[in-house]
Amino acid sequence: MVHFTCDLCGKDLAPCGEPRFVVKIAAYAGYDPNQITEDDLDEDHMEAVAQILRREEAEGALSSDLDAPAFKGFRYDLCSDCHGRFIKDPLNRDTMKILNFSEN
Ligand SMILES: [Zn+2]
Repeated sequence: MVHFTCDLCGKDLAPCGEPRFVVKIAAYAGYDPNQITEDDLDEDHMEAVAQILRREEAEGALSSDLDAPAFKGFRYDLCSDCHGRFIKDPLNRDTMKILNFSEN
């Protein structure tokens, strides 16, 4: 039997007891395809980009070596209380504000 606990408060999420909420977060580099300019479509520029990409492949500079991978996914199991708090403030900005004030 799979056993779940709340990833925020650690409360036991037994199958027939506490309701369980799943939160999935995906973090990845934003990019707007509409931002392509005529310069981007210039053949020399494209060739330069292709050369950079080839060089990075050759050097093994793939996302796994970077501090900030291009894509990172998170999955959390939350109890109903923590889920309620999460959807009101997913990035915990209220807490960040309190911390900033207390440092002054
Ligand atoms: Zn909880």
